[in-house]
Order: sequence, then C-alpha cells, then structure tokens
Amino acid sequence: MGTLAHVEFWLEDGATKATADELILAVEQEMQRIDQTMSPYIATSALSVINRDAATRPVIVSQELFDLLTDAHHIAVLTHGMFDITYASIGYQYDYRKHQKPNQAAIKKALTAINYQTVILDKSSLSVKFTDADVKIDLGGIAKGHAVKNCIAILKKAGIEHALISAGGDTTLLGDRIGRPWFVGIKHPRAEEKTAVQLPLSNESISTSGDYERYFIEDGVRYHHIINPKTGDSARNVVSVSIIGKNPTYVDALSTAIFVMGLQQGMALINDLPDYEAIIIDNQQTLHVSTGLQQD
Ligand code: ADP
Ligand code: MG
Repeated sequence: MGTLAHVEFWLEDGATKATADELILAVEQEMQRIDQTMSPYIATSALSVINRDAATRPVIVSQELFDLLTDAHHIAVLTHGMFDITYASIGYQYDYRKHQKPNQAAIKKALTAINYQTVILDKSSLSVKFTDADVKIDLGGIAKGHAVKNCIAILKKAGIEHALISAGGDTTLLGDRIGRPWFVGIKHPRAEEKTAVQLPLSNESISTSGDYERYFIEDGVRYHHIINPKTGDSARNVVSVSIIGKNPTYVDALSTAIFVMGLQQGMALINDLPDYEAIIIDNQQTLHVSTGLQQD
C-alpha cells in the first residue's frame, strides 16, 4: 500500500512473547493479503482483473471486495461524487515521483470515464461490471481504512482489548491506553517533523488526508494525490482533513472526500452527519473543527 503500518497492543499478564509475535505476524499477513488483492500495480490482483475485464464481462469478486465496493458507492452518493473510485482514469496518469501530470487534452478525455454510476454491483451474483469501456477504478482512498479495520478485528478476536493500528494516515484505537486515552497526532502540513494537534481518543478511528503525502511542485503549483473527480486536478481548497468516527473504512474515504469538497461544503456535510467529526486545516493554515468538537 506504499506506506508504513504500525501496531501496538497489550496482552494479559502471563501471556508469552510467542503470542505477541504470532499476532503481529497475523496483522502483517492481513495487510499483505489486502495489498495483493487491491493493488493496481499487481497484474494478478482482483482489482487489476476488474480493471481489465469489467467493461466486457461481469467479474465475480469476493464478498469482502464486493462489500468494500458497496461502501465506496455509498460514500460516492453521500459526497455527490467527490469520493469516486473511478477517479482512477485520471489518477493513473499522475506520477508524483517522476513529476508527471496529464495535459489538458488528456484530462478532458479521461473525465468522460469518471462516474461512479458506471460501476454496476450485482449483489445476487457478487459481480462487478462497467457500463463504459474506459472506466478504471482505484481503491487507494479506502483500502487502508479497510485493512486497519480487518487487523483490529484479528486482535479483538484474539481477546485483545487495548490496541492501536495505523496504516499511513489511518488509525484505529481499540479501547483506551490502559486507563488513559490514546493520543493521536495530526501532522503539521508544512513542517514534516511537527504535530499540528494531538487528540485524546479511545475506541475511535481517525483518518487524515493531506496534500503533503505525495506531491510535486511545478511553477509554484502543488500537484498532489487527492484529485477532484470533476476537474481531474488536485484539490487545493484545504491542506489537511482529519475525520473521526467509529468505522475505519468510512473515515478513510470521508477524509479524502471532504478534502476535495473543501472547507465550507465539507464541514457542512460533516456537521450533518452525527457519527463523524472533522478537523480541517485550510490553505491559510487555520484550523477548523466540526460542531461536535467545539467546546462551549
Ligand atoms: P493517503 O493515501 O495518503 O492516506 P487519502 O486517504 O486521502 O490519503 O487517500 C488518497 C488516495 O485516494 C490517493 O492516493 C488515491 O489513490 C485516492 N483518491 C484520490 N482522489 C480521490 C477521489 N476523489 N476519490 C476517491 N479516491 C481518490
Ligand atoms: Mg482517505
């Protein structure tokens, strides 16, 4: 998934190091399994098979992938297409390491293939089909949240009650940190080693999307990995969005979506959703929080 993962947990007194090692291995293997399934860079991944074949035949997928695609669809509807896995037609034309971006003609052509409604999910056959020949999908905005969710489930099943798992900007906290909350930092968007805020959290998930993770600057303009599906260009209204909630998959996708929506629209949406809170740093580096986080 192109990022670092981190796991911490407490075992009951009397548990052995072997138990801890086994659990760490199980978490590692789960992350790798998801990468193998959902990576666009692995030709044999289920995602690559969908991208290759779904325009010509319905592709049968696992229940897990079907459910994730269903979540992605729900979030696309909720965010009026600002989260859209079909952004990939344009997304695949950016290479941040090589400082490559599509030109206007390429963007114009790719935009016609960006529309989540062209991805048809059939529940009875667990299949995926594209109604447009040029559609491609990418799960980079939701897969890490899903991975963290599954890994927490593994620990929970093993009887763990206090844990933290993160993958890149996605963190889930199981329980508290033995009588105290966990503290999760939100990176300072313009000073790599600094933290903008520290949040005390227990039994929550938090996902941060920032324009400083993958980017390059050309002629003073920052080209980064969060794309507005309506324009094909990087979203530049805000620089960092963190979403807090119970569902790791949803907070992951929502942080990407709210980033694209920007401060006014994005905050309005979060304030309408009772189960989610937001911390947004705008492009003047001012911090804004949703109503549920404001103290009166
Ligand atoms: P990170 O990957 O750094 O944790 P995000 O959670 O914000 O950051 O996800 C950004 C990723 O989401 C991009 O790398 C890309 O794979 C994908 N993405 C970018 N723009 C969109 C979009 N508008 N809708 C859905 N996915 C997107
Ligand atoms: Mg995200």
